Amino acid sequence: MESISQTLQTKLEMLNWDFNKRCEKHKSYFLFDYNDNLNSRCPVCYCEGMTKNVEQQEAEKALDAERLKKYNTLKKLSILQDETLRAIRFSDYKPTNSEEENNKNEAIDFFNRYRNGEIFNLWIQGLNTGVGKSHLGMSILEELNESDAKDRSCLFIDIARMLELIHDSFDNKESHYTQAYFTDLLGKVDFLVLDDLGAETGDIDSKKKASEYTSKVLRSVMNSRQDKATIITTNLPSAKLKQMYDGKVMSRMMRGVKSIVFKESIDKRPSEVGF
Ligand SMILES: [Zn+2]
Repeated sequence: MESISQTLQTKLEMLNWDFNKRCEKHKSYFLFDYNDNLNSRCPVCYCEGMTKNVEQQEAEKALDAERLKKYNTLKKLSILQDETLRAIRFSDYKPTNSEEENNKNEAIDFFNRYRNGEIFNLWIQGLNTGVGKSHLGMSILEELNESDAKDRSCLFIDIARMLELIHDSFDNKESHYTQAYFTDLLGKVDFLVLDDLGAETGDIDSKKKASEYTSKVLRSVMNSRQDKATIITTNLPSAKLKQMYDGKVMSRMMRGVKSIVFKESIDKRPSEVGF
């Protein structure tokens, strides 16, 4: 029986070496391609190249998976009170007066500034409900999510619903909607909408303060988002908000802030009973 070294020797002799060319790096003669005797190359360089290609493909696959995870964040992890907001775009926003028209255009401008890499917090405020504050907030997220390389992570969170879920998790050990889950998730996404700030305290005309617990959750989220963009919608004026929430939360939320304000618009959601 042939020894391994004999076999190797035979195989090596069968290879078609190009003794006119030599790789100085690997101290090896070139080898002709298996199928032709025209092209030759250093076999070690060739193997290294193959390995590099495989590594590159693996890295690209990992990158694609990471990108897809970010892209899916908005759809999979958002917490909505109102399901009609899902996947809603600027094109679905039909202004019924000039203020709404202007505010829609402003929202599109802000979307473009975010898209170009600017970081700032944006408030969308209006005393009346149903004028489309959440709609504009969601539209900015949807457009960012669908733009360019689709590698931005966006998240829409209804604050009252989130707090309910956290509260439920105190007694329900099966629930993964813990405070830690939300503060981690909300802290790391690139773009976040916090929807309907103030609604979680109930009656907005009372002198009620937000609970210490609510402030604590918001403070922890805003602490992690100092270099990220947060969009906050609310029915409340800033004076009222400052009275309700602790100073640190408000100063984080109000830092470098831009705003879209609805002063005139009234509820434009269709009423089933006609009034
Ligand atoms: Zn070589």
